[in-house]
Amino acid sequence: CGIVGYLGFREAYPIVMNGLQRLEYRGYDSAGIVLTSESNTGGLYKTKGKVADLREISEKNNIKGTLGLGHTRWATHGVPNDINSHPHQSNSGNLVIVHNGIIENYDTLKKELIKRGYTFYSDTDTEVLINLIEEVKKTNNCKLGYAVQLALRNVVGAYAIAVFDKSNPNEIIVARLGSPIAIGIGENNKEFFIASDASPFIEYTKDAIYLDDEELAIIKIDRDIRVRKIHGNLVVEPNIQELELNLEQ
Ligand code: GLU
Repeated sequence: CGIVGYLGFREAYPIVMNGLQRLEYRGYDSAGIVLTSESNTGGLYKTKGKVADLREISEKNNIKGTLGLGHTRWATHGVPNDINSHPHQSNSGNLVIVHNGIIENYDTLKKELIKRGYTFYSDTDTEVLINLIEEVKKTNNCKLGYAVQLALRNVVGAYAIAVFDKSNPNEIIVARLGSPIAIGIGENNKEFFIASDASPFIEYTKDAIYLDDEELAIIKIDRDIRVRKIHGNLVVEPNIQELELNLEQ
């Protein structure tokens, strides 16, 4: 039910973990975190239960990374348990996703992917989506951003997602349809923050983009964010807003 992400030069672990805590008010049954970096010091932890439980199981392993994604899950497909918790990985182990929402046609997509040789380890609709992205990427031999875009054109449902490829820890793809997602932009595009609402990153930056429905953003270090419509090939000029600090909250 909540997504947090960081891509930049700081240690992502405390930013993502504290961000998850701030999103706890949204309600959830499980929590997870994944970190990665050029030097492969990351890891993935997920558990049924509270963010505090996730902190306990992950903290002692001292995982490090400058790319991090976190998730709090409100189960829709598959009971709340460790395996169904997010993040989910593709069969190759390279692609990683966190997802809020529902993939309504997951069953049809899953059957097709099984025919093509994919194995499923969880009962979630989300694991279907990350394998669909992998299959599209392989079939078209294209970049991750385009693969996510093409995959989402085959999806019926609602989502906010963040996806990355472990072999490229400088890029995160974000998309939304019916579930909120905000992107915070650090100075000179040196760092980016992703969250279901701006509360996890308000102390780091005041510049944010709120994606509209059916939009996809390609977030890369040292570059302006690129936003496209999922259907058609329209490029969208990102609308950067100034966040206001609301001291009454
Ligand atoms: N449909 C997904 C699941 O059941 C995501 C649920 C959510 O929004 O947290 O795992």
